[in-house]
Amino acid sequence: PQLANQIAAGEVVERPVSVVKELVENSLDAGATRVDIDIDKGGSKLIRIRDNGAGIPRDELALALSRHATSKVHTLDDLEAILSFGFRGEALASISSVSRLTLTSKTVEQSEAWQAYAEGSQMDVKVTPAAHPQGSTIEVVDLFFNTPARRRFLKSDKTEFTHIDEWLKRIAMVRRDIHFTLTHNGKLVRQYRPANTEIQTQQRLAQICGRAFAEQALSIACEHEGLSLNGYLQSPQDTVITETNFFYVNGRLIRDRLVNHAVKQAFAEYGIEHQPGYVLMLSLDPHQVDVNVHPAKHEVRFHQSRYVHDFILQAVQSALVQMPA
Ligand code: ADP
Ligand code: MG
Repeated sequence: PQLANQIAAGEVVERPVSVVKELVENSLDAGATRVDIDIDKGGSKLIRIRDNGAGIPRDELALALSRHATSKVHTLDDLEAILSFGFRGEALASISSVSRLTLTSKTVEQSEAWQAYAEGSQMDVKVTPAAHPQGSTIEVVDLFFNTPARRRFLKSDKTEFTHIDEWLKRIAMVRRDIHFTLTHNGKLVRQYRPANTEIQTQQRLAQICGRAFAEQALSIACEHEGLSLNGYLQSPQDTVITETNFFYVNGRLIRDRLVNHAVKQAFAEYGIEHQPGYVLMLSLDPHQVDVNVHPAKHEVRFHQSRYVHDFILQAVQSALVQMPA
């Protein structure tokens, strides 16, 4: 099973940001409202994720580290219409096969916390008592210590940390209800406080996309026959080149050329040739989209992609037309 885990790790765990992504998604699945992320040396030394979610019961700790152990998929329909982030039950097993992983957790029912430890090639997990408030802390030390080829592939600490920072911006943008912190080598780098009011939302937008973008952005809110699009478009007057191209489908961060194409086309029709920034959240019936195209789930396949494209195009067109002169 260890080899299988390491092979699976090849798909899921490419670099430190992939570990952060899997662990933070687990925290969000567990209903956490606060997630603290500590990184040392770009994540190659330490990735520590602490949450205040539901926790893992003592007798499920070892199981959580084994392959195909997921508490999230119960029926085939769940699989098709999955809305929660994780569902393959491979992330923890994969990560623990290429690192020294410690899982510490306490559920609300338990009076004490427990800790499970698994290291690279040894698959038997030790469970010992520990101190921890309700929630979980997952500590991943010495990532790829036993897969030197993969470790050599890592870029500088700064580059690996930047990937983590950029990924967190995208998640913090869509999960504005969550309090996130991010530290690197003991220094607090980001603090995203929960944004529940309009003013707080504006602050988070400014924090993530820059003040100019936030102050001038056009808001989008469109709905049509089961499709809805919400978010922000860089103002056509603002010609600063931005890397804010954030797109989400049913709350998931997605890489897709379709939205880029639609936004660009609408701006081009309006006489603007540069690539505008955007933060766009699309919601649709989960049965209308396949999320399993890629194991890391960055991509989707729309059943009616032309229709989705044209919906986004029209939403952007009408935002541009309605823009105050
Ligand atoms: P998946 O998320 O695909 O189910 P993972 O390997 O990521 O698989 O996690 C395995 C299981 O461990 C999850 O199904 C969940 O029950 C439990 N788990 C992992 N991380 C957490 C967490 N932070 N809080 C609560 N439960 C967790
Ligand atoms: Mg998961």
